[in-house]
Amino acid sequence: MSQPRSHNFSFEFFPTKTDAGHEKLIATARRLAEYQPDFFSCTYGAGGSTRDRTLNTVLQLDGEVKVPTAPHLSCVGDSKQELRELLNLYKNAGIKRIVALRGDLPSGMGMASGELRYANELVEFIRSETGDHFHIEIAAYPEMHPQARNFETDLANFVRKAKAGADSAITQYFFNADCYFYFVERVRKLGVETPIVPGIMPITNYSKLARFSDACGAEIPRWVRKQLESYGDDADSIHAFGEQVISEMCEKLLAGGAPGLHFYTLNQAEPSLAIWDNLKLTR
Ligand code: FAD
Repeated sequence: MSQPRSHNFSFEFFPTKTDAGHEKLIATARRLAEYQPDFFSCTYGAGGSTRDRTLNTVLQLDGEVKVPTAPHLSCVGDSKQELRELLNLYKNAGIKRIVALRGDLPSGMGMASGELRYANELVEFIRSETGDHFHIEIAAYPEMHPQARNFETDLANFVRKAKAGADSAITQYFFNADCYFYFVERVRKLGVETPIVPGIMPITNYSKLARFSDACGAEIPRWVRKQLESYGDDADSIHAFGEQVISEMCEKLLAGGAPGLHFYTLNQAEPSLAIWDNLKLTR
């Protein structure tokens, strides 16, 4: 089955610290660009730690690799003036899409400073500063944000953020399609029609994935965890099993009405492309 391109496909990168890493990122992006994604996005270190690297990467991906690229922008730790300057830089460079986040300050940077405390305030700020210039993406958590008091409060906070002026949402990754469908259903019942695109994390390294998933509240189902654990250092088996699990979940998501897929590439092309090929997505 070939998926029509009414779906929205995108690839996410993180800005690298070294020249070698950056070159690899650009090579990965050029390879992924051949698949004609709708956009790329590039993460931002909360508190401005990657401010210049994110900016430069976004401008290069957008200008040279020629795929529309969305910077992530987080509000904790940045002043309104710093955010305003970045927004103007992006706007003047012709960037049209932005991923608006609260962010998490790295440990050691103390309590959240900054004038905007939550992502809904950042969405309002972007709209008040730049009107309708940007297509604003927000984050969604089908398995609940790890710091939320409970699911209902988190849902209400998501709805507030969407109503503040977001155009679409990208989810935290998950390994259970049902939690996505349930979340979307609940959001729709609250009168919000914002498209919600699943964020997809290819499985390539079990120990890193387990650590990261603990921190961001993504549950690895027991049957997946047990299987991955049993492969130990056998990277080929981890890749093959991970590819199958994620491809099948993506198939279910698209068949069930997900408006697209956003791949967390971790700056690697092959794991996302393997899933892309399994799904027989068109270019
Ligand atoms: P919010 O929507 O502000 O929510 C944060 C928490 O506060 C939730 O528990 C929510 O229920 C609660 N809350 C929300 N609004 C209010 C309110 N008005 N009053 C009281 N409570 C409220 N992090 C980075 O640092 N850089 C990145 O580039 C980055 N990219 C990401 C991309 C995606 C697609 C996703 C899903 C996450 C990304 N993150 C990134 C991680 C994200 O910053 C963290 O998950 C962060 O903890 C929450 O950000 P948010 O925008 O979802 O916050």
